Formats: sequence, structure tokens, C-alpha cells
Amino acid sequence: MHYPLVIVFAQETQDVVNALTWARQNNVALRVRSGRHQLEGWSNVDNGIVIDVSELKSARIDAASLTATVGAGLSQLEAVTTLAKQDLAVTTGSEGSVGLSGATLGGGFGFLTRYLGMACDSLTGAEVVVASGADRATAINVDLSSNPDLLWALRGAGNGNFGIVTSLTYKVARLKSVAYVQATWEGLSDLNGIFSAWQRTAPFANNRLTSQLEIHKPQILLMAALVNGSAAEAKRLLAPILSVGKPKVSAQVGNWGDIYAGFQIPTQEDPANWKFFSQFITEPFPPKAISLIRSFMQNVPTDDSNYFTNAFGGAVKTSQPRGGTAFVHRDALYYAEPGAGWGTRGKPRSGDAITPRAQAWIAEFSQALRPYVNGAYVNVPNIAMADWPTAYWGSNFGRLRKIKAKYDPYNVFQYEQSIPPASGWSL
Ligand SMILES: Cc1cc2nc3c(=O)[nH]c(=O)nc-3n(C[C@H](O)[C@H](O)[C@H](O)COP(=O)(O)OP(=O)(O)OC[C@H]3O[C@@H](n4cnc5c(N)ncnc54)[C@H](O)[C@@H]3O)c2cc1C
Repeated sequence: MHYPLVIVFAQETQDVVNALTWARQNNVALRVRSGRHQLEGWSNVDNGIVIDVSELKSARIDAASLTATVGAGLSQLEAVTTLAKQDLAVTTGSEGSVGLSGATLGGGFGFLTRYLGMACDSLTGAEVVVASGADRATAINVDLSSNPDLLWALRGAGNGNFGIVTSLTYKVARLKSVAYVQATWEGLSDLNGIFSAWQRTAPFANNRLTSQLEIHKPQILLMAALVNGSAAEAKRLLAPILSVGKPKVSAQVGNWGDIYAGFQIPTQEDPANWKFFSQFITEPFPPKAISLIRSFMQNVPTDDSNYFTNAFGGAVKTSQPRGGTAFVHRDALYYAEPGAGWGTRGKPRSGDAITPRAQAWIAEFSQALRPYVNGAYVNVPNIAMADWPTAYWGSNFGRLRKIKAKYDPYNVFQYEQSIPPASGWSL
């Protein structure tokens, strides 16, 4: 829990300029916030100023040129449903209340990833309020011709590092309909077969299909979205996985906005606390790693705790946008995270007794998988990871530090795992 001095709910860009100028002139710590879902609470700060852009809700959509410019305050649900009314889409994560800004600026994956790439791959421009001079702030435009180095950096490393994004411009895609399939297996007895079939096929399937696994102790879920296809085609593409054991399978076909609105989490029954550990996988897990997943899932701290995967490959691997991106995990077969959930919403301290066990489970689970994983996801930060810069950005980290030194030489935008400016850069 953090207690800031003040939270500024910006109504327009000038409010952000004023707030940043005030913070600099009064030497007050600051954080930037949109959807409030930073998983370690780093978009908030004690005794500082939170510059909150969540009320910047504009949306200008040009269906003819397939361009959308939106305020930095849109949630993913607002973005998906607004675009879907015109049969348009960009990649987002599947949790509607997460900010589109936060998700995009760190990468952003979900059910459209293998078709459209990461959310940041569709980002073609932004308005950003940066620190200028010794104690001022100014709004700049960022695109392929103005400040293209910053556009590159915002595509995967833009969260709270370089400035405050007030609007984002996307290249949007036409999307008529989606076939959404969900399959459920009771218990863990089919885990090895399901996981082996999933990792063998999901990262290499037709690019229109993106699927996720969510493994719980009581049941295993497969969720998949097929762009512009039928339920029969989706089930055919998923047949290697669906043929394992006897899953209960359901399917719906419709407008992406309607299907997306149906996912909405968290519900009131969701646990009060979550702890995740992000990992990318570039080589298929050997049977030993799958056995590890099984044994950790047999010993979960709570039944909400799970192991989640999202297939990569497809457009993430094959098509980067012009100008490139700071997002580096192009060769990942999939993203995965163990997640521990505990405690009851609305009942403070209800999870305290389980906290040590949940934290130990996550730490031991993620550590056991270390030999089989390659990199981590900045949007699901690993707080105790010593080599986080390389895990998040690989060899791009040096270039990010130089861009940081150019746009934020005084390191005004800093938090627990922010990018430090390159040293030796003259102001
Ligand atoms: C329930 C849940 C489900 C998730 N599922 C997915 C998923 O499916 N796919 C996925 O890719 N990720 C997923 N995530 C991770 C999610 O992408 C990150 O938590 C994301 O950074 C949250 O963004 P936000 O705007 O909601 O949060 P905030 O807390 O407002 O911000 C997150 C970070 O971005 C910075 N930031 C926010 N707005 C701006 C801005 N306008 N300019 C500059 N910096 C800014 C903040 O300073 C902070 O560092 C999930 C997270 C949760 C909690």
C-alpha cells in the first residue's frame, strides 16, 4: 500500500505538462499511472505525485486508413469494444480493466498475438510528455519520422521510463469475427498429454489461432481464439490437444467485442492477493519440466493458484513493424507464469496465514523451471531477479539506456526496475 501526497487526474495534455513541471520544480518523486494494474504497485509512490492519465478517454478511429488514436486512459475493455463496433482490433491482454497504455508499452499479448503480433507492434505513434531542460516539461510527438528512437523504445520498454504517454496511435486490423473455444479437463491426470500436445502444436498452428492453457489443481483449461473462422475449424486445429482424455468443450462464434466482454475478470470471488513469476520458453519443455509442473500443481497453496501459458510464434516471430521494437522475445514458443492467488476480497489480512506458503511456492516453482526458460516479461515483473534488464530486454538494454539518457537525462522517471540513463552521456 502506498500513500502519495497527491494524485493528479489529468483531463488534457497540458495538465500532465503542469504536473510534471510542478514535480520537477519542487523535487517531488513521481509515478505515472493508467489502469492501476502494475503488479508490484510501482505506479504509485509514498509522499510523491501520481500523474494519472486514466481519464484521457478520447478515441479517433479512421476505418478507411485503419488508424486509431486513443487517449492513454482507455482500459483494454474500452479499447476492444470501441474498435470492435467497427469490426476492427488490436492485440490486448484478456483482462478488461488493465490499461491499454500499460499493456502496450510493455509489449502486450493475448488472444490475437499470433495473428497481429504484440500490442506494441501495432503502435505507430504517441504523444509523450517528457522532462525538458533542468526543470520543465513538454509534449512531443513520436512516430517513424519524429523521434523514431523513442517510438522504438516505447514498443516494449515504455512503462514509466521515458515520459508520460498521453495518446497512442495504432495501426488497427479488420476483424469480422472470432471463434472462441474453451475445453476443460477434470483433475491433473491428463496434464502430461495435454501439455506435450499443446507445446508441440500451439506455437506452430495457423497464425489465426492463439491459445492459452490454465492449469489448476482441480482442472485444466484450454482457451483458444480463431480469427475469422468457424467453431469446427477451431476444433480441427486444436484436435491434437482436444483428443487427449475426455475434455468438456464449448465454442462460440461472434464479434470480438462481445466475446471479449464475456471474459471479464477479476470477479468478486477472485483472491485478494496474486503473485506471478514471468518466464519465456524458447525450447519445448522436456518431460522432466512437465513433471515439475505437475508436482508443483499437486502441492498448490490454494486451488486458485495456477500455471498459465500463452502461445507465441506466428506474427510475433515473423512480422516486426517498421522501425523495430524494444520487445525482444521474438523466438519464444510461449509465455508462461506460475501464479499464486490467496486471501478473500474485502477481508483485509484474510490471506496472511497463507502468504509465506504462497510466496515460497512461487519462488521454488519458478526456480525449478529456470534451466528450461529464457527471459522474463517486464509487464509481469520479477521483483527478486538480479539480472532483470537482460531478462526483459536482452541485448536491447544498452540502446534503451542511451535513449533514456537522451530523453530523460536527469532520470526523473524512476522506480524500482526503471531503466537508468547511460553514463557518460552529456546533458
Ligand atoms: C489480472 C491481470 C491480467 C493480466 N493479463 C495480461 C495479459 O493477458 N497479457 C499481458 O500482456 N499482460 C497482462 N497483464 C500485465 C499487464 O499488461 C500489466 O500489469 C500492465 O503494465 C498494466 O497496465 P496498467 O495501465 O493497467 O497499469 P498501471 O499500474 O497504471 O501502469 C503499469 C506501468 O505502466 C506505466 N504507465 C502506465 N501508463 C503510462 C503512460 N501513459 N505513460 C507511461 N507509462 C505508463 C506505469 O508507470 C507502470 O510502470 C495482466 C495483469 C493483471 C493484473
